[in-house]
Amino acid sequence: MGTIEQFNKYVMRSYGRYDLVMDKGDGRRAEDENGKEYIDFGSGIGTNSLGYCNEDWVNAICEQARKLQHTSNYYYTKVQADFAKALCETAGYIDMFFGNSGAEANECAIKIARKYSFDKYSKGRHNIITLVNSFHGRTLCTLSATGQDVFHNYFFPFVEGFINVEANNIDDLRAKLDDTVCAVMFEYIQGEGGVCPLDKEFVDEIFRLCDEKDVLTIADEVQTGVGRTGKFLAGDHFGHKTDLTTLAKGLAGGVPIGVCLSGEKCANVLTPGTHGSTFGGNPICCAGGLAVLNKINSEGFLAEVAEKGEYIREKLLKIPEVKSVSGMGLMIGVELKTKSAADVVRAALDKGLLLLTAKTKVRLLPPLTITYEEIDKGLTILEELLR
Ligand SMILES: *Cc1c(COP(=O)(O)O)cnc(C)c1O
Repeated sequence: MGTIEQFNKYVMRSYGRYDLVMDKGDGRRAEDENGKEYIDFGSGIGTNSLGYCNEDWVNAICEQARKLQHTSNYYYTKVQADFAKALCETAGYIDMFFGNSGAEANECAIKIARKYSFDKYSKGRHNIITLVNSFHGRTLCTLSATGQDVFHNYFFPFVEGFINVEANNIDDLRAKLDDTVCAVMFEYIQGEGGVCPLDKEFVDEIFRLCDEKDVLTIADEVQTGVGRTGKFLAGDHFGHKTDLTTLAKGLAGGVPIGVCLSGEKCANVLTPGTHGSTFGGNPICCAGGLAVLNKINSEGFLAEVAEKGEYIREKLLKIPEVKSVSGMGLMIGVELKTKSAADVVRAALDKGLLLLTAKTKVRLLPPLTITYEEIDKGLTILEELLR
């Protein structure tokens, strides 16, 4: 039995997959089981932030695996303490909670928001505003938070207490932000929703209203965070800091992690016994995360991410088939004039290029370490496909 047949026999078919068996990777190059090579413009959905098998990252992970791969959260480990300190200092937060995925990071933020409000105001202030077209994860709670009706099927009843506001609609926000609301949760750039950035005025209004009403702000930076947009947090572009920020995808360079970062307001909301995760803060993942942070914090790294993003944007806009380009840094959405993004992404596989879609757009989330030469190679393939 071939790999694909065997896989489909034993693994539930919850994904639409391409007929491609990935075997290994090196830098920004992936290789399938037949030895065919691909330039990677997807990073496994923004996860392999340093590309495949970055040497420092591999060394950090292997060293930690040889030393201590896991211990229960009844004990402390130095690698967790070191990673938490580095992350809080880099992101500008006070403390954080360790989970294993974006959805878990968001669950944590939602729980903290509700408990903050319950502790201070008691019951009845549990609603959380999320945005239409948002994406917050696949657990029942984060699906409920997700502002896209296509996700609200089959699994009834969903978790109560989420109110959707139209992105960039200030009147809608004002109308719905009443005294039943404890938090507003949003992506600065909606990723799965089609790489759609929020307007600065809308974000300003969220912060103004939330400040006025002691409503918490939660940024889901699972996709936009950790240098993806050319700053450590996408919020840094907007000049705002949310009370809570969630990170996951690129944070540990391709091993599972998700964190909820907290500022002053929520720093002491979770008390012993109120939240937990067996695998949360896994030492191997923390070691990988430290390697990622070291790289991202190195001199000039983020400026280069921004420059590479600009370079790609300019080149894309010269392609006649490209209607518009959205996003920031190395999070890029490409709207096409006539072609279907899904068809282009599929055709790109044949030509040796890994791309993503986001709704009707082609989405690029290349490894942050991609070189100009690799960018040119990938864009040449994309340009030919769009001819
Ligand atoms: C991917 C994503 C999630 C979900 O992350 P998982 O690790 O798949 O649970 C949540 N929010 C945003 C913005 C994402 O892009």
